Amino acid sequence: MDKLFHFDCPQEVYTADACVISCFDARFDVAVRKFLKRCGVFLYDHVKIPGGAKSLAAPECETDRDFVLRMVRTSIRLHRPRRALILAHQECGAYEGIALEVVTADVLRAAECLRAQEPSLAVECYFADFDGVYRIG
Ligand SMILES: [Zn+2]
Repeated sequence: MDKLFHFDCPQEVYTADACVISCFDARFDVAVRKFLKRCGVFLYDHVKIPGGAKSLAAPECETDRDFVLRMVRTSIRLHRPRRALILAHQECGAYEGIALEVVTADVLRAAECLRAQEPSLAVECYFADFDGVYRIG
């Protein structure tokens, strides 16, 4: 292998402040990162998938939900987060033309699913809009 880039990464295994589930829409990356810091979430395992909570609440196929739950369980096993944050966002491609109430209802349903499957996690629900982040519920 040819080294192309030098950077010193931390080598210690970490305890995650949270497991974060969100969409991969990059427009909200900076806002979400800053919001997470504000919430005391500095180190986190990021389950970043198109549609975010949709895979838990209303998956296109059942295996999507299992896949997300497996990622969350892996996060728990390796990095022991106590919190899970589920974030939806404005203008999500997975919810094109669908009312905001449906999106936020899906986040709440995803949270219920996660609480039922992993009761050790404190699950929080948020919505990222173009002007900031809102709490759902
Ligand atoms: Zn999205």
